[in-house]
Amino acid sequence: MREDSRRWIEEDRSHCWHPFTRQADWCAEEPLVLVRGEGVWLWDSEGRRYFDGNSSIWTNIHGHRHPRLDAAIRAQLDEVAHTSFLGFANPRASELSARLSGLFPDGTLERVFFSDDGSTAIECAVRMALQYRLNRGENGRTGFVAFENGYHGDTLGAASLGGVGRFTGLMQRFGFGVKRVTDVAALEAMPESESAGIAAVILEPLIQGVNEMRLWPQGMLAALRRWCDARGIHLILDEVMTGFGRTGRMFACQHENVTPDFLCVAKGLTGGYMPMAATLTTSAVYDAFLGCAEKTFYYGHSYTANPLGCAVALAGLDVFEQERVLENLQPNIARMEELLAGLKERCPQVHEIRQCGFIAGIELRQPDGNRFPAETRTGETVCRTAWKHGLLTRPILDTIVLMPPLAATEEELAFAVAALEKAIGEGAR
Ligand SMILES: *Cc1c(COP(=O)(O)O)cnc(C)c1O
Repeated sequence: MREDSRRWIEEDRSHCWHPFTRQADWCAEEPLVLVRGEGVWLWDSEGRRYFDGNSSIWTNIHGHRHPRLDAAIRAQLDEVAHTSFLGFANPRASELSARLSGLFPDGTLERVFFSDDGSTAIECAVRMALQYRLNRGENGRTGFVAFENGYHGDTLGAASLGGVGRFTGLMQRFGFGVKRVTDVAALEAMPESESAGIAAVILEPLIQGVNEMRLWPQGMLAALRRWCDARGIHLILDEVMTGFGRTGRMFACQHENVTPDFLCVAKGLTGGYMPMAATLTTSAVYDAFLGCAEKTFYYGHSYTANPLGCAVALAGLDVFEQERVLENLQPNIARMEELLAGLKERCPQVHEIRQCGFIAGIELRQPDGNRFPAETRTGETVCRTAWKHGLLTRPILDTIVLMPPLAATEEELAFAVAALEKAIGEGAR
């Protein structure tokens, strides 16, 4: 091992603390130190090359070191890296807010509130939805509905909405109370006396990411919108994972012609370059915050509307248009489907493939259909084995995520699936 690799690992073991990581295991194993990227590829400090199979935790859209995105950041750096959005405007934020609003039907999501990541985008939507009711004197309408096994981020407010027990762990009882349901039928059965106390419903449209990539039935989103509309309840859509082309359309909600009252985006907003998020909402919501000082939305972060983030987000939207990203993606979505069907046919450990656009979950089980014992950590073992074959990704339990940058070509997809096949053969037994 190179001297600098050794040093970086030692410093990491001594001083870093990794997200969602059992640190004792982490320190006992040899991590990869990622130093460079280009397109769908990443290189480690030993010079080995890997396919970025989960888009660097679901963030990257157009590939690493995209010339247009790189140039946008460099150009902005020659102006200024950061200025405060508290008390001042900035050109890139002005442009980006107009661009984002323009992606939705006229007169719908006309206001954009910037923040830093998925969790803060959700936090912001929740506070807006709550304060909207208070500003209007609807003091009894402060409840939230969320779906079983949903995931909306890790700040305490966002985590309260989440329904994945192993993510909240011991912290579960410290969040705010949320009504949790499994489907729209459960909402339809809800008595008027209860729904009258609900401010908003939150959903990951089409597919629940952290819930092992489980898909909602077709029509669920439209049915939920109708349920909300009939009762004056706001719909918050969490498109932190699904936004910016991942599902084959720019936003998942477009598949069912639904426009929410609040839309949260983050991960792909900057093409995976900068931590930045946005909460979009309607004029009807915005207007409720006008008037006396008490009605003001008291919320924000130091790096809100960071010019570097806005500049690269704008460049990412340009790339969508100029490189016809969504059009070119369609045959590759079909190709991914074929490749994964072949994988399932050849690997008896592949129990189910769940795919939504360019997002796939590959669930592994024992050939007899039973789950692998939890202690064998099959998903983790397979992903670690995949390193050897040039593929980086992460499992959710025993579901392997394949969510490449939208820029991945047919050949690159074939490489990734072949690597996964070898890893499953060696790691899932
Ligand atoms: C990742 C994710 C979040 C949280 O975003 P962070 O940027 O990690 O805070 C929220 N919702 C969904 C659906 C996500 O995938």
